[in-house]
Amino acid sequence: MLTVFGSIALDTTRTPFQTKERILGGAATYASLSGSFFVPASLIGIVGYDFPQSYQTLLENKVDTKGLIKHAEKKTFFYDSSFDYDLSHRTTNKTELNVIENFEPMVPMEYANSKFVYLANNDPDQNLKILKKFDRPELVVCDTIEYWIREKKNSVISMMEKTHGVIINDQEARLLCDLPNLIKCGKQILSWGPSFVIIKKGEHGVLFFCNDDVFPIPGYPIEDIVDPTGAGDSFAGGFMGYLISKYQKNFFDNIDMVKESILFGNIMGTFAIEDFGINKLVNIGINDIMDRNKRYRNLLSLG
Ligand code: AMP
Repeated sequence: MLTVFGSIALDTTRTPFQTKERILGGAATYASLSGSFFVPASLIGIVGYDFPQSYQTLLENKVDTKGLIKHAEKKTFFYDSSFDYDLSHRTTNKTELNVIENFEPMVPMEYANSKFVYLANNDPDQNLKILKKFDRPELVVCDTIEYWIREKKNSVISMMEKTHGVIINDQEARLLCDLPNLIKCGKQILSWGPSFVIIKKGEHGVLFFCNDDVFPIPGYPIEDIVDPTGAGDSFAGGFMGYLISKYQKNFFDNIDMVKESILFGNIMGTFAIEDFGINKLVNIGINDIMDRNKRYRNLLSLG
């Protein structure tokens, strides 16, 4: 099982072509839904009194929500952002922490022995706190976002020191490391302790750092992009879900399997961006994913 902790949000997303207000989003939402195609996924997080019941029911139907708390007095985490004409560059208009502020995360008893934990985008101090509540996870991966790098850079680094893997996008890696070159950024993050780092470059794919190697992996080409929100979180859920589904002993004995998992991460990211919010993710099946994987492998001459 994949256990995901992080933000569950109401997102207002503005593109030059359309705006959607207060739709279901959040890093943990995307990651758990995406991972659930490959392994059972559970979601830990908090929402507020304004969180629509229909969103809650949708989540309950797709993932294990024993760890989902509803606050009776505070509002749900809210994120408002706009994308440029290229649907690649995002500007944050507003981040309202609401229920996330001062949240003391708990791990339901049933999840305490989870082996695979994804710390999605969230307050890094809370991520560190919740990590201590798991017995002995074998694979812990985290992500972060500009807001937390600006607000709590030292805590972001402490969190990364305690994980096996870091997934981060290119702009955030540069901001975090204060370095222009992504190879240098990846190596710097590796030097803090994780066994691997994945730097996401949007439509251009990812750089995967492990040991002394840097593997470039191209993205799957997508023509009709609607809303890039959640691409990174869906990548992470798909990557972890597929990797866990193939888990045998030590993840990093089999680098090819990790690379395969990155292909599935990229594929899940492409589905996320083809519609607003989670709309596309909840309307595809494993056959759509496998068809895209086949086409992707052909494009890359992987047979
Ligand atoms: P992504 O597009 O994959 O980078 O992630 C977008 C998701 O992250 C959105 O659905 C937001 O609700 C969520 N998000 C944005 N800012 C934050 C933040 N400061 N902390 C936690 N989650 C956030």
